[in-house]
Amino acid sequence: MIQDIAPHQFHNEYQPRDPQSGDIIFSYSGNEALLKPDHTFFRYEDIHTHHDYQYLFRIDDTAFYLSDLSDLESIQMGFRFCRSYEPRMLGFACITGYQLYLWYQENQYCGKDGTRMIPDTKERAMKCPVCGNIIYPRINPAVIVAVINDQNQILVTKYAHGPYQKYALVAGYTEIGETIEETVTREVKEETGLSVTDLKYYKSQPWSFSSTLLFGFSCHVHGDCTVKLQTDELRLGEWKDPQDEIDSMDTASLTSEMIRQFKEGKLK
Ligand SMILES: [Zn+2]
Repeated sequence: MIQDIAPHQFHNEYQPRDPQSGDIIFSYSGNEALLKPDHTFFRYEDIHTHHDYQYLFRIDDTAFYLSDLSDLESIQMGFRFCRSYEPRMLGFACITGYQLYLWYQENQYCGKDGTRMIPDTKERAMKCPVCGNIIYPRINPAVIVAVINDQNQILVTKYAHGPYQKYALVAGYTEIGETIEETVTREVKEETGLSVTDLKYYKSQPWSFSSTLLFGFSCHVHGDCTVKLQTDELRLGEWKDPQDEIDSMDTASLTSEMIRQFKEGKLK
């Protein structure tokens, strides 16, 4: 998956230091990342004009920063490339940096009194110098659900809208006041009309494309497995056998890993 970057090690503890040669500088514009014309990332030594740098995180000994490099010659890339970029750790770093970029962008002013927020020096937070309001990075919890029936079939779906048109699994965001397990049963019920039991936690995945932390679960539907699709969100919901062809994307997502695990008989 996109976060599996071993043997490299992701260090997200907030220990800012000044950029040095070899460090990577991310710059974003809307829904795109700015790369060098040769499709590699800007290194600190590539930049010869004055810029401000916001420390993000480290991978091994390389630190990553946020800056505005729009004055430099660059190409703009939509974030899909992060799913398959090599080395993978840079694709992961780029999309993780984007989540922080969005958060910094959206929290420039205090929501209570409109004062300009300043980055805290001790932890990753934005702080209001007037009222002391502290804002931490936003992470939206959500679930990915492998629903399995008595015939050992898995329920796959396709979204009604948006650019992503390959097979997916039932998915949705956690609402205020519910547990992650309640999110699973509610989302399956809402999207497919099915009542599920035997929830089993699989794995989680940070999915910075949507500032999300995904929780993967498998669960079972016993007896009648007629799908009543919520058509404003989904255009397809169908049961697949393990040997069926399921065009489940790349190796970046939790969804594709869970579908592969099911096909190999490891997700029950
Ligand atoms: Zn304030």
